Amino acid sequence: MSETRVNLLDFDRAGLRAWFARIGEKPFRADQVMKWIHHHHVTDFAQMTDLGRGLRGKLQDLAEVKPPAVLLDRQSSDGTRKWLLGTDSRNAIETVYIPEPARGTLCVSSQVGCGLNCRFCSTATQGFNRNLDAGEIIGQVWVAARALGNVLHQRRRITNVVMMGMGEPLLNFENVVRAMDVMRDDLGFGLASKRVTLSTAGLVPMIDRLGEVSDVSLAVSLHAPNDELRTELVPLNRKYPIDQLLAACARYAARKPRSSITFEYTLMDGVNDHAEHARQLVGLMRRLPAKVNLIPFNPFPGTRYRRSPPDAIAAFQQILMQAGVMALVRRTRGEDIDAACGQLKGQVLDRTRRAAEFRKRIEESVSHAA
Ligand code: SAH
Repeated sequence: MSETRVNLLDFDRAGLRAWFARIGEKPFRADQVMKWIHHHHVTDFAQMTDLGRGLRGKLQDLAEVKPPAVLLDRQSSDGTRKWLLGTDSRNAIETVYIPEPARGTLCVSSQVGCGLNCRFCSTATQGFNRNLDAGEIIGQVWVAARALGNVLHQRRRITNVVMMGMGEPLLNFENVVRAMDVMRDDLGFGLASKRVTLSTAGLVPMIDRLGEVSDVSLAVSLHAPNDELRTELVPLNRKYPIDQLLAACARYAARKPRSSITFEYTLMDGVNDHAEHARQLVGLMRRLPAKVNLIPFNPFPGTRYRRSPPDAIAAFQQILMQAGVMALVRRTRGEDIDAACGQLKGQVLDRTRRAAEFRKRIEESVSHAA
């Protein structure tokens, strides 16, 4: 057995075919293996019964199917489910499943921690540790699909994937794009492009690059209707101010007929929830095909922000709607298990007290497995 076996979860279809070519196998063999992995959740090559014995042996020597380890699997009273997944011995990430009557959304992380330092986001307090590799990103979908008993074309539990977990996906471009390719591939998770959404804090050049290689849905974390306030809340705004950001969004939307960009706007009491903010937002949203997703702020320990009261949220929404701007209030889900927007932390290195708890959990899970 070789020490450096490749993790087949890291490959999209083209990559897997190329790897099969390198080991002297035909491309259709790669396709068969991809189906075993993603449709049937099989990790043991011995169970891939339509492959010849020789190939199965070769795969056992050279490769593995290694999803992230499930350290914790929690279910909220509202049905939301959150997995804490170990990516290596020191780090973990979080993945959240949000079931609704007509759909099931999986919220996937792209980095361990985040370096953008948005003031109102709990992930920011953890700092940045590293990019996830493609296998760790697609592995989150894989773990959730297996746990939920997702069956392609029959019992689809995951109908949508949003790259809205920990991290800034456009700062981990190659791996995120590759993982999204597997999400959309019929031999992978077979989701339509519009059902895969990438959310960004607004990296303008990377939005253009994304438009060149992908047609997934785009969501942008706006959170403020003017540069002064946005720079305070989302420091990245200093580099890519609102005008430039909206222009990039308009270019992205123009590539796809009938598509619009979703703008996320987290409502914080007395910070960005005044009527004047709503009116300014209307002005911005008129520039391109847009919808607004209003997110009631989710508190976390140590934050100085508070959630806007329900009447302020309703008034804000009404100003947008009356001006013809489509605006929905995102219902808060999974709060009791810290799974709501902006509450994902996972664990990053040993900077915090929580890291000690986390190490204990890893040790426990290792001793359980042993
Ligand atoms: N970095 C990407 C992906 C994260 S998406 C991005 O910024 O878009 C997570 C969404 O939840 C973002 O819109 C983020 O701004 C929002 N969010 C962060 N902290 C929040 C909080 N405490 N309450 C509500 N929403 C929050």
